Amino acid sequence: MQLEVVTIGDELLLGFTIDTNGAHLARELAGAGVEIVRRTTVGDGADEIALAVRQALDRTGAVITTGGLGPTSDDLTKPSIAAIFGREMRLDEEILAALKARWLKRFPGQFPQSNAQQAMIPAGARILTNNHGSAPGIWLEDERGRWVAMLPGVPREMRGMLADTLLPLIVARANGAGAGEPTVVRSLTLRTTGIGESAIADALGEDGRLPAGVPLAYLPGWEGLDLRLTMKGLPPDEADAALERAASLLRAKVGRWIYGEGTTDLAEPVLAAARARRLTIAVAESCTGGMLGARLTAVAGSSDVVLGGVIAYANEIKVAELGVRQATLDAYGAVSEETVREMATGVRARTHASVGIAITGIAGPGGGTAEKPVGTIWIAADVDGTVTAKRIQTIGDRDENRRRAAQGALALTLRALTPGRA
Ligand code: AMP
Ligand code: MG
Repeated sequence: MQLEVVTIGDELLLGFTIDTNGAHLARELAGAGVEIVRRTTVGDGADEIALAVRQALDRTGAVITTGGLGPTSDDLTKPSIAAIFGREMRLDEEILAALKARWLKRFPGQFPQSNAQQAMIPAGARILTNNHGSAPGIWLEDERGRWVAMLPGVPREMRGMLADTLLPLIVARANGAGAGEPTVVRSLTLRTTGIGESAIADALGEDGRLPAGVPLAYLPGWEGLDLRLTMKGLPPDEADAALERAASLLRAKVGRWIYGEGTTDLAEPVLAAARARRLTIAVAESCTGGMLGARLTAVAGSSDVVLGGVIAYANEIKVAELGVRQATLDAYGAVSEETVREMATGVRARTHASVGIAITGIAGPGGGTAEKPVGTIWIAADVDGTVTAKRIQTIGDRDENRRRAAQGALALTLRALTPGRA
């Protein structure tokens, strides 16, 4: 089944609120085999809403909206969609009574008249009960079976109503009489680091496509390049089998760069590799100020591997706590191969860890020079006395430069701990 989503709200268009409802609907519906083929965002105007919903209905005959169900003057979703279906708005006494009871239980006293607005329901609508708030959701359907489901904008209420009421309804419909075998939309993500989009495409051959006919998306980001395979319109078993076949193919061709699946953090395989060799880890961080330690310790069970570390932001701390030589700092500077090597070795020696990981760099926006521009980062891993160091050059803002520095250090460490990794 295919449908469209229309998210409603001026705050979405202005960028003050991020459209998390659209993303949540997409993920939940895909899991149930329903494909969102288009997503539209419109402001709170009645005409804009009506136009967007009418066009979406013409294309797919199935539309979910979120937002604009509240009691205030900017909540125009119900009447504008009712007009498309040629339905009158009527006061539903039962809903009004329930709204009043709910209100008076929480706020004894006067029931605000504007709240009665929420009991105005298009004629012939089906009510989607809201167990998480006051505004009821609405299902409107015409004689041709075209439908619009209106959900509230408040994310918690929207998610609850989707799970409790709407999703079961849509799934039953999609799998109803004559619908054939149920199908799903499934994805499998393989995470890579140390290789770019075009290099991966070259390594895969076939113009970067997979012979198995499974659509492959290249998703670059600060964590590396994610490869996402997606299968649509197949029964669950067949979709999973096709994904697994395609993933095996990817692993065979570019497995050297793959570090995990789904939402695996790069810290996880680093910890696993260290654990497998019974190694412990300590970190020495300058420009990342603890991000690397945070990444490692965010993984449950990291305490058998991670000993601790030093945030050596100032040069004096690099000298006093890590044993970096003043002469090294004077000759090469704090952001240099010589310094990062001494940081990695120093933290390993001082903590008696098997592995010392170090980061020093210029996160920006200030502090860059012609020779060492903002984004110049040196990372090093000392594994049992063998030190590997690397310079990386990032081009993001301060936040992204710091995240890329921590990611680079984890990638370098994973490589140092795993023979054969690219
Ligand atoms: P509404 O139902 O339009 O009155 O929306 C109520 C609140 O829900 C708004 O103030 C937003 O903070 C939030 N909201 C509305 N639409 C969305 C959306 N698409 N994604 C995330 N939050 C939303
Ligand atoms: Mg709104």
